[in-house]
Amino acid sequence: MRASLVGMSARSPLAFVPGHRAPDEPGAAPLCFAFRGRELLVTQDGQLPGVTLVDSHGIEAIRTQYLGRLGETHCYSAELEPGLKPPPGLAFRDLRPLFASLDPWAHAIAGRAVQIVEWDRSHQFCGACGRQTELSQMDRSRACPICRVPMFPRLSPAIIVAVERDGEILLARSPHFPAGIYSVLAGFVEPGESAEETVVREVFEETGIVARDVRYFASQPWPFPNSLMLGFTAQYESGEIDTSNDEIEDAGWFSPDALPLTFPGNVSISQWLLKDFIERQR
Ligand SMILES: [Zn+2]
Repeated sequence: MRASLVGMSARSPLAFVPGHRAPDEPGAAPLCFAFRGRELLVTQDGQLPGVTLVDSHGIEAIRTQYLGRLGETHCYSAELEPGLKPPPGLAFRDLRPLFASLDPWAHAIAGRAVQIVEWDRSHQFCGACGRQTELSQMDRSRACPICRVPMFPRLSPAIIVAVERDGEILLARSPHFPAGIYSVLAGFVEPGESAEETVVREVFEETGIVARDVRYFASQPWPFPNSLMLGFTAQYESGEIDTSNDEIEDAGWFSPDALPLTFPGNVSISQWLLKDFIERQR
């Protein structure tokens, strides 16, 4: 059942095969994910523009990166000028609202692309000696010709967890959430921690609850800006809810028939965790 939940992310009708080494020829109709900052160039209704390379719109990319291929179609990202105005009929949009309009496979490649664009842009020079870095042919990295230290795209692993107690789930409200919304708990992995240790620490820090029996559920890339969400379930062990911290303003145990408001939709692992919990209570 868990596998089918993960399948809700519906990657693509075609398999996307990531790659870092561009082919000699891009082929007849490559797919281009063009970004101004973190905003993707899309049509007014939030679809990928039916164009191949950005220069067909008279736009020049600062840099392009090869992403891989979708079936036989080669995919590229392009970094555009920060102040660029969109061509007629097109618009620049943040990826988060594009969950509503882009196909899941297109959103997934765009999420990959924006992080590669950002990594390439911010690693042109060595942080230690200041020399221009070089793109590796071996893997997705850049390296300084002197220092030799490879620089990979940065990922920030984070945990997200559904803690359960007697048919109820622990949900909490961050002050940053829209009014009334509750969600499962989440937090970033710290250096030196296993993901399971992060689960126990975050649950305790945010709610005062001690969790046990931490089990892996699924993961999801979350490009806002560069997280990898590692989903878990856990069981209540001990403690009373205490939200006298800065991160959470309220938390509680909720049964499936008395849930608070939660984030609408079915695009994120927080929603898959909640749906999995509800289905298991039937
Ligand atoms: Zn260097």
